[in-house]
Amino acid sequence: MIERVCVRGCTVRGVHFAACPNFGDVDEDGCRGCVPTVARNGALICDRCRKRLLTLLEAAPDVIALIRSQADPLKAAVYDQEMVSGSASDAAPAPVRADLIDASDDMIRILRRWSGVRIVGLEPGEQSDAAHGHALDAVDAIVGMLDVLANDKAMILGLCADVIDMPPEEHKDAWTILRAVRRWPVEDTAFWAAQPCPEVACGLRAVKVIPPKREGAPTRYRCAKCGWEKHDDDDDGLWAVAFSKKEGKAA
Ligand SMILES: [Zn+2]
Ligand SMILES: [Zn+2]
Ligand SMILES: [Zn+2]
Repeated sequence: MIERVCVRGCTVRGVHFAACPNFGDVDEDGCRGCVPTVARNGALICDRCRKRLLTLLEAAPDVIALIRSQADPLKAAVYDQEMVSGSASDAAPAPVRADLIDASDDMIRILRRWSGVRIVGLEPGEQSDAAHGHALDAVDAIVGMLDVLANDKAMILGLCADVIDMPPEEHKDAWTILRAVRRWPVEDTAFWAAQPCPEVACGLRAVKVIPPKREGAPTRYRCAKCGWEKHDDDDDGLWAVAFSKKEGKAA
């Protein structure tokens, strides 16, 4: 049986063919591994590429929301209008933070392209919450189709190039999801609570505390094991007190 290798040309770190100068004799500066990584069962990419895809796709909505919340919506609207009309009026303020608008718009276009939805950018001055929702819908659709995409060479190479690669040298001003995530890292402030799940049938220490993404929104408490979930504004318990102790940073 012939094993398929990752179409992205991934190699196993530290594993070399006999013809490689690093075979059996490690030179730190030389080849870091030349034996191709085996593709995942039923896919054309390896496990590592798939994990990176999922991680970056899942990070995208938060990054888009963060960018959108940093871009002043009024200025964003002005900038977007200028883009549409193609001429900047003297009276209009300079399109400051244009990079923010470009990045969030490019990101949503990437996500929509791969989710099969009509490719449009964000609405002029679109608010952070709404942008987050659109991005999440697109990500859900892509993740739902990932096994199909991962079996089509052209598709999976294209998706990976848009999501887990930096833009190619000749288009280095373009945005990919990776470039935006590196530029605007979103700190994951969620943590696992040290206290056990209050569900009697569960009782496991599997409650994830998820601070709000927006100011004033409730913190969420969700058991990863049984699905028990409460919000800060559920008044049937002092949940913030019940899950005050950290077990560790949530992955
Ligand atoms: Zn080698
Ligand atoms: Zn790979
Ligand atoms: Zn539970």
